[in-house]
Amino acid sequence: MESNPIRVCELLVGLPDVNVLGVIDHPDGPIRVVIECRSDRPTCPDCAGPVRIKDRPPVELVDLAAFGRPARLVWRKHRWWCPDPECPVGSWTGEDRRIGAPRLAMTDRAGRWVTLQVGKLGRTVAEVARELGCDWHTVNDTVIAYGQALLDDPDRIGTVTALGLDESLFLRQGPWRTQRWATSVVDVSAPGGARLLDVVPGRSAVGPSRWLEARPEEWRDQICWGVLDLSGPYRKVFDDTLGHVTQIADPFHGAPRGARTPRRPGCLPSVVAVTGRSRGPCWRRTCAVGTKRPDNVPHGQHHQMIVAG
Ligand SMILES: [Zn+2]
Repeated sequence: MESNPIRVCELLVGLPDVNVLGVIDHPDGPIRVVIECRSDRPTCPDCAGPVRIKDRPPVELVDLAAFGRPARLVWRKHRWWCPDPECPVGSWTGEDRRIGAPRLAMTDRAGRWVTLQVGKLGRTVAEVARELGCDWHTVNDTVIAYGQALLDDPDRIGTVTALGLDESLFLRQGPWRTQRWATSVVDVSAPGGARLLDVVPGRSAVGPSRWLEARPEEWRDQICWGVLDLSGPYRKVFDDTLGHVTQIADPFHGAPRGARTPRRPGCLPSVVAVTGRSRGPCWRRTCAVGTKRPDNVPHGQHHQMIVAG
């Protein structure tokens, strides 16, 4: 068991190479932990001479909640300057990306966490901001910054054989809390479970169609299955952009009770079974999707729905 108070603080804060300078406790606000970097004094990037500390302005970053309470990291960043009068460098601020990326108002670990919450788990920006006790824009800007880095990775998407489209309420905006919708583009074939590829604005056919058209044709050709709700816009996306793909009704949207569409291609069966009642409109729509059978489906795969009962 560690009992050295300094070390105990460092362990609780959990950041590499920092000194914990103190904690500011306002009963009605987030807890504030003041830190500084412990790294060696740098040399001048231009003349390689010794440098001096100009000042240490506090930079406040939203951090992960600590012990059920919103938290802030107050980073006393070193500002360095070169005393050589001939040197053109002037002053600069010391950065450490392990703590936080420059110009973002959130620590790196909080940034990764909010991106996961919003991007993968589908929580709203407002909900996550409430949990961290911070502004909506702080979370949104961070998710965009981290999400963009993921999108810029050319190997990120990989081969997708089953693609899902799903609408989600992105936020409520303005004084009337107007609903703003987004469409999640999901790799349903990802090992270990569905994987979010992107989120595009709106729930019409336009956003997803543009997204798909921007992908290479060879990538689109590898998609065999489209998982969607029964709305017209998403069917239009598949009809227009992925005409060769077999469309499967997402069981969570409008399929009759008892319908089961496995979401992973590992268990994507050749038959999607719909059991139970109903030969109403819902049943007919489900069948209409299920019986759309492209000519190039390999023999032996029965891409159709069986209706029992
Ligand atoms: Zn210098």
